[in-house]
Amino acid sequence: MSTAPEHRPSTALAPATVVVSAGRPARAQGGHINPSLPLNSTYVSRGVITPGELSYSRGDNDAWHPFEEALVALESGAADSGGPGSGAAAGGEALVFSSGMAAIAAVFSLVPDGGTIVLPRHAYQAGMVLADQISDKHGVTLRHVDIADTDAVVAALEGADLLLVESPTNPMLEVADLPAVLGAARARGVRSVVDNTFATPLGQRPLEHGADIVLHSVTKYLAGHSDVVLGALVTRDAELAAVLREHRMLHGAIAGPFEVWLALRGLRTLALRFERAQANAAELARRLADHPEVAEVRHPSLPGDPGHERAKAQMNGFGAIIGVRPKQRAASGEAAAIERADAVVNAVRLWLPATSLGGVESMLERRRRWGTEAPTVPVDLLRLSVGIEDVEDLWADLDQALRS
Ligand SMILES: *Cc1c(COP(=O)(O)O)cnc(C)c1O
Repeated sequence: MSTAPEHRPSTALAPATVVVSAGRPARAQGGHINPSLPLNSTYVSRGVITPGELSYSRGDNDAWHPFEEALVALESGAADSGGPGSGAAAGGEALVFSSGMAAIAAVFSLVPDGGTIVLPRHAYQAGMVLADQISDKHGVTLRHVDIADTDAVVAALEGADLLLVESPTNPMLEVADLPAVLGAARARGVRSVVDNTFATPLGQRPLEHGADIVLHSVTKYLAGHSDVVLGALVTRDAELAAVLREHRMLHGAIAGPFEVWLALRGLRTLALRFERAQANAAELARRLADHPEVAEVRHPSLPGDPGHERAKAQMNGFGAIIGVRPKQRAASGEAAAIERADAVVNAVRLWLPATSLGGVESMLERRRRWGTEAPTVPVDLLRLSVGIEDVEDLWADLDQALRS
């Protein structure tokens, strides 16, 4: 037994094992098996600070390291990161932020004034609002594209500074050809970032398809219990990591120790949660497609879905977010469509009417209730975040709400 290596390369382990085993303290007799929750704004330090040394918690904080190590191992398939406190890992570097939006803001800060960003026409709405503001204030050109239309994406890359990819997109579930668009960006010297919130590192690993940066709203699946707001970036480019790290330090959007501790606690069950949520979602999507009160269902698991073949080829599973439009009754027109969709949200008893996604509990909302959602998203589109409850209970509640 004692011949087992203390730090096996994570590449040798399946992701379902990595979520459980990564980010643990070094093994010592009587030592902790879980990372502790260090609470320090500052550290003992004298004289000139050497790189990697802890000095002030806004710059670097050992409360972040175990989660950051786990995320590098998951997104990069990295070899062991060199132990607690090393910050950087052989296969890349992860940086936690106070929210997914703080991580997005850090990525946008890479774009020079007067530069160009290629971004999906449908994507996380607050990110799109921030891009609009940056465009107004800094003369940045935004080229919105259908991220599933590879030719359009490639054509838009000419002279661009940054390609932002979401796949599947929020909330329209469009699937990008990741190897094609990321390869095209790389060939043209355009930096790329993939928001991997919907797919999780268990569903796809964009760095392996050529992305420069992977972005997460850790708030969602990684933490998984709707009790924490947190974000993260992962990159294999050490220079880029240093720039993003400096941004985090200067702009100060840093994560609290307890939030990061909760995220790692949640990550331990990610494989189980995501497997169950994906299975539930595929079953509900299949049944919804035949429901008499449903006009349209979007989920990449459905054979007729535009993203089905691509998702099958590049993802492990199809995710657990579903788009649904209820069938209109006698009345037609936009107001009636909104009323009908809102009625479904008001009728659920088990599903939670709430924004956000990726938690153990199933949630739904009508996305266009947010004035900032893209106008090309149908007014009556319900976004369902499927959780890990019993699928029959979820179905019974959805069915009665659609019929009510
Ligand atoms: C929620 C979300 C974000 C923003 O993350 P926060 O943690 O809420 O700041 C970014 N991208 C996607 C795809 C999201 O769903």
